[in-house]
Amino acid sequence: MEKNTQQLPAADKIGVTVLGSGSKGNCTLVHCGREAIMIDAGFSCRETKSRLLQAGMSGMRVHAILVTHEHTDHVNGLRVCAEALDVPVYATPKCATVLRGTDSRLRQFATFTPGSPFDISCFDIDPFPIPHDACDPVGFIICCHGVKIAVATDIGFISSCLEYELDNCDMMVVESNHDLRMLEQSSRPWNLKQRIMGRQGHLCNEATQDLLRHTVKDSTRNIILAHLSAECNTPELARHAAQETLNKMERSDVGLFVASQTAPLPTVWSR
Ligand SMILES: [Zn+2]
Ligand SMILES: [Zn+2]
Repeated sequence: MEKNTQQLPAADKIGVTVLGSGSKGNCTLVHCGREAIMIDAGFSCRETKSRLLQAGMSGMRVHAILVTHEHTDHVNGLRVCAEALDVPVYATPKCATVLRGTDSRLRQFATFTPGSPFDISCFDIDPFPIPHDACDPVGFIICCHGVKIAVATDIGFISSCLEYELDNCDMMVVESNHDLRMLEQSSRPWNLKQRIMGRQGHLCNEATQDLLRHTVKDSTRNIILAHLSAECNTPELARHAAQETLNKMERSDVGLFVASQTAPLPTVWSR
């Protein structure tokens, strides 16, 4: 009989399912067993339901929809999804005010403050501010059964807060929005290019490389690149850049996935 075998509690697997990501809609589920929270509701309710079905997630018990910010690609289906799922919408007070201003029928708000953690079901949620041209935009750190997950897109630049929050996560959903050269050469108007590249815009692939260099640590097992620009990036370029960084860090063991705008990414599980 073995004497010194330490009894560890059976680890619950935590899953992250990106139903879609990009400027035409964002919606991600973090789940444990059949319990889930939804982050953003950027697709119509019908599209969200269809994607939940495609991803094999239609039996999930969704407890809440958490809103990162009020841009349409994150809230387009918010009210109808919240009503259909019969769940509260969590947003910062400022974001909630803006959302109510655009749709007075939005009810069931629960508000949170960036920097003040709260719980929903088995999920510990820590919202933190991100630099982006929206009203009080946030990213989320979600901890569940000892697994730390980050969801952070729509980021103008890598703030020290962002680096601190994303440090040593088991899983990260992070923005890798554009390839600088493709953006510069695109036919987009000058002011839009400036907005995207600015400190309140979006992260380019090189910036995401920088973010990974600073935050990927021993616990990091999986990275999902998200919010790719359809016109100014390709999944291959984003993946190549991130993989190059992971290889240089001798972390080619880290799972690397690229979320798509058009279809759900198969669930990525904590290991
Ligand atoms: Zn967005
Ligand atoms: Zn945005």
